[in-house]
Amino acid sequence: MLPPFELLRPRTLDEAVALLCEKGMSCKILAGGTDLLVKMHESFDGPAFVLDIKGLEALRAFGETPAGGFTAGALTTHFTLSRDAVLKKRCTALAEAAESVGSLQIRHRATVGGNICNAAPSGDTLGPLLALDAVFVAYGPGGSRQIPAAGFFAGPGRTVLLQGELLKEILLPPQEDGMGSAYIKFARRKAMDLALLGASAALTLDAAGCFSHVRVSLTTAGPTPMRAPETEAFLKGRAAKESVIAEAGRIASREAKPRGSWRSSEEYRRDILETIVPAAIRKAMLRAQGPEADRRQG
Ligand SMILES: Cc1cc2nc3c(=O)[nH]c(=O)nc-3n(C[C@H](O)[C@H](O)[C@H](O)COP(=O)(O)OP(=O)(O)OC[C@H]3O[C@@H](n4cnc5c(N)ncnc54)[C@H](O)[C@@H]3O)c2cc1C
Repeated sequence: MLPPFELLRPRTLDEAVALLCEKGMSCKILAGGTDLLVKMHESFDGPAFVLDIKGLEALRAFGETPAGGFTAGALTTHFTLSRDAVLKKRCTALAEAAESVGSLQIRHRATVGGNICNAAPSGDTLGPLLALDAVFVAYGPGGSRQIPAAGFFAGPGRTVLLQGELLKEILLPPQEDGMGSAYIKFARRKAMDLALLGASAALTLDAAGCFSHVRVSLTTAGPTPMRAPETEAFLKGRAAKESVIAEAGRIASREAKPRGSWRSSEEYRRDILETIVPAAIRKAMLRAQGPEADRRQG
């Protein structure tokens, strides 16, 4: 049974913000509810107020921006992210991550905004959003402000959103020509399992076959999803060959900050990173080389 609460259903974004400011810490935002309701079920002492944001059209933007980027409202479901043809082509890692979330039912219900604001180190879309240089738009009493994904996560389950703010949308900047991206999720089971580890890569190759634009990010490899700056710096300008890619995996494994838990030891996580980081780089590289190269590798 859920603890008792009062359900609030604002009709506009400003009404939602006013309610968040008025009710303060006693109010929780409800999007798809696949994290929030599970947590409320497990607790005796839930929030006094639940703010249902599903009716807010302002959180449902979805599509290309005039500048050539992409925007997805906070209420965009994982199903939509995983199926959109433009997103699959341009931001493949994000579509791939969304496709890996839970089950079909969960993907139809759960939102990308909920995944981001839940801020679990294992959130599947978070690594790809970091690798794709996403920017999050928060809306609060002071209006809108933009927060780069890399500065959004403050700790496990914590974000830099202020009291009274909610996440409105995600902006994906225009991608560099010839960019390929990939997400590799390592879990104990193929279906309905959280990421034991995740690796994302987004990159381009120059005419000489060297890594040019490079982003690598890691999931469940620290208290928050993280970029891997030493790995990125190592790859940039180096030839896209197997010895380089394998060394990048070792560097990522060293710079990660995984902790041991009942799910796996720190050493095991570092070993796995040495495999999945190169796998993400290879996959992104094939995509950067074009559909023919990607198809040849299956
Ligand atoms: C069976 C099952 C399997 C799952 N599998 C996976 C998986 O494989 N990978 C994975 O990453 N996750 C998984 N999850 C977790 C969950 O489905 C995702 O994190 C999902 O994206 C949460 O979205 P939601 O809309 O349901 O969020 P909610 O539960 O509605 O909200 C989550 C949190 O974010 C806050 N919030 C929501 N929207 C906003 C907003 N716009 N602004 C500010 N705060 C907001 C809420 O207050 C709450 O604290 C699973 C969950 C279940 C129940």
